[in-house]
Amino acid sequence: AETELIRAQRFESLAMLAGGLSHDLRNLLQPLLLAGDSLQDYQDDPRLARLGRLVRDCGKRGLDMVQSMLSFARGARRAEQVRVGALLDALGLLLQGSVPRNVTLELEAFDPDLSFDGNHTELQQCLLNLSLNALQAMPEGGQLRIIASRASLPESFFLPGEEAREGNYVCLTVSDTGTGMDKAALQHLFEPFYTTKESGTGLGLVSCKRIITAHGGVVRVESVPGEGTRFHMHIPLIRQPVDVLDEPETVNLQGEA
Ligand code: ADP
Repeated sequence: AETELIRAQRFESLAMLAGGLSHDLRNLLQPLLLAGDSLQDYQDDPRLARLGRLVRDCGKRGLDMVQSMLSFARGARRAEQVRVGALLDALGLLLQGSVPRNVTLELEAFDPDLSFDGNHTELQQCLLNLSLNALQAMPEGGQLRIIASRASLPESFFLPGEEAREGNYVCLTVSDTGTGMDKAALQHLFEPFYTTKESGTGLGLVSCKRIITAHGGVVRVESVPGEGTRFHMHIPLIRQPVDVLDEPETVNLQGEA
């Protein structure tokens, strides 16, 4: 399981890099393609028209390459039935050696047989990232709880006029009684390379968000400085096509929402 996890993590970073790069390259190539297009229609100077064709053809080849890089970044995700109980069992095993004596670990699946469309390894990696963050936020000890339950989508995610779809989501919650975060920290939480740790990468949460978004889900964070942090992830039990997902909502329980 360990090596598969590392492989998934490596793939995740690569996919993230490829995704970001393709996006930027596409924005560069598109105007180039347009410029080549209009140049090749230039009647008065055949030399310019020829150059225009060259620019357009190279731009087109570049765009095709970018397109396949993008599909690589999005694809290659194995879809399977993920069983909530199996997910938490695997996480418990992975965490075994990492939980210090002054931390109590609680893993609870209200309905262990609850299953949904997703990728076990990716979700395991996401939960592990969040759990390790939680442990690092509790240097003096505390409580780490990972809970899986069947839930509805929180109301703040409804689109205007949308009805509550009762219990069509699995909610994974990772909570700690650690340092918590203030409003300023919450604002940067999902930015790549945002870290407050000496040897942090600032990519853990970016990767978590990517994984949950790829599952059609949403991430929500609640945090109180000095009290602790809760990450809630809602994933639809049945995959439905989702187009644009909003930025994850962060809630500061002390601030004015
Ligand atoms: P890294 O762990 O490498 O710093 P992450 O993206 O996982 O990168 O986290 C970014 C930052 O968010 C952390 O450096 C930390 O400041 C903050 N953070 C994440 N999880 C928690 C938590 N459970 N409690 C307090 N702060 C957290």
